[in-house]
Amino acid sequence: MKRRSVELLLALSVFSLACDGAVSEVQVGGDPDLSRYFITPDLCADTFGPDCRSLRLGDDHVTTTSPARGKLYACSPGNPNAPGSQADRITWIDWAAGTWNLLSKPFLPRGAFAPEPGTIRVSESGSVRTITINNLPVDLRIGDWPMTQYPDLSAIDRNPGVPSPGSYTFNLPMNPTVGAIPACTSLGAIGVTLNGVILYNAMDGRGDDAVAHEIVDEFGGHPAMTDYHYHYLPERLDAAPMPDGHSGLVGYIRDGFGLYGYSGVGGRELSNADLDECHGHEHAPLGYHYHATIEYPYTVGCYRGTPAAALLTPLAFPVAIAGTAASVKVDQTALVSMIRHHRQALDLVALVPDRSDRPEVIEMAVRMQIAQTEEIHLMRRWLESGHSDIGGDLLVTHDGIHDIPGMISDARMRRLRDASGPEFDRLFLESMVEHHEGAIVMARVILDRVGSVGTTPEAAWLLRHIDAEQAMEVQRMRGMLARGG
Ligand SMILES: [Zn+2]
Ligand SMILES: [Zn+2]
Repeated sequence: MKRRSVELLLALSVFSLACDGAVSEVQVGGDPDLSRYFITPDLCADTFGPDCRSLRLGDDHVTTTSPARGKLYACSPGNPNAPGSQADRITWIDWAAGTWNLLSKPFLPRGAFAPEPGTIRVSESGSVRTITINNLPVDLRIGDWPMTQYPDLSAIDRNPGVPSPGSYTFNLPMNPTVGAIPACTSLGAIGVTLNGVILYNAMDGRGDDAVAHEIVDEFGGHPAMTDYHYHYLPERLDAAPMPDGHSGLVGYIRDGFGLYGYSGVGGRELSNADLDECHGHEHAPLGYHYHATIEYPYTVGCYRGTPAAALLTPLAFPVAIAGTAASVKVDQTALVSMIRHHRQALDLVALVPDRSDRPEVIEMAVRMQIAQTEEIHLMRRWLESGHSDIGGDLLVTHDGIHDIPGMISDARMRRLRDASGPEFDRLFLESMVEHHEGAIVMARVILDRVGSVGTTPEAAWLLRHIDAEQAMEVQRMRGMLARGG
């Protein structure tokens, strides 16, 4: 398909040459000179690590079944219809060779755009490290968004986004442990940098290599609507090496393990061959940690530990929810159903501590309890911020739960209450898989429906978030069921 587009473009330029006899400056192929947008990272100057002129294109290195070195283990494949770059206008990818050249790729330059300063707050309490950011760069380095001001660039990548503040909170385990099996990564935040900006995995919405395909600014980030993010580690953030030359800490991944820069012990730039399938390794004094590389998958390939929930509170929500009556109505129905569904998950999770002896089940239950409680708070706040025509009592009753897919029957709840040990674990995991799958169905059905009615982007965001998070957890639980007690 990509080749056909290029052929079409060539045919069109030949056609215009043929028809317009007076033309002397027709650009055959139509490629503007992009060289003023090129950058030359120091990483590309040394002889260690991957060659920036022929980096492996990640498009065909996604796996959705099991992790593998050099691949991105994604919970679901991309959506080919998602917005993204125009493949036929990309000049820096060698499609036949499956490589791309970072040195001939354009980056959005700096300019007048100056959003408010980035903030990051890190606090530690008990065994939890809480990181709160406004998702703008602490070092103030950001490109001149929106890119639509640069027609040469927006002809390639139509991204109309403008970064704006959003409050993200990560509650991460301070002493993460390596899990029995690695977990897949989903779209959205997979971690946070100490520069106060979130990290996404290496994939764009289509499932392609985001760093190779999408245009980012010369500081390494770009917005998804208003959410600024990095798909790889901006080189300047790797500026504080440890005494032995090993890169310093640059961020945290959602399982609590640290992300370090490009260099291993001795200051030598790393490549995938030095790292495991999750893109990390273990050595003193750091224990297990991830590293950035300038080759796909750039930051992490999978989660070595158990990913914690990342929560986004769009600051603009109270304004945004004052939309049309129809969209507010749909949002409220969606949120009320989802709150009821989450409440039952909390009821299920509450049974675990007294009945299970399996550490990974107990650990997952704790994490679900935190995530679902916070999501309920978030959804309630959103509901209360709208001019609700739904009475407050509806939020606390369990009426009408049969309309909500995946809800667990009273009989099953009784069986769960009476069970213990391996029998409980199996019943619990089976029930929770069904329950989560119900939430995913509900989120998708609602998204389909609001898609035509029109909804607030925040509610749609939450539903997509639930869809992605719960799909990831379902996969983990299926793994636990398969391994038995
Ligand atoms: Zn992106
Ligand atoms: Zn290391």
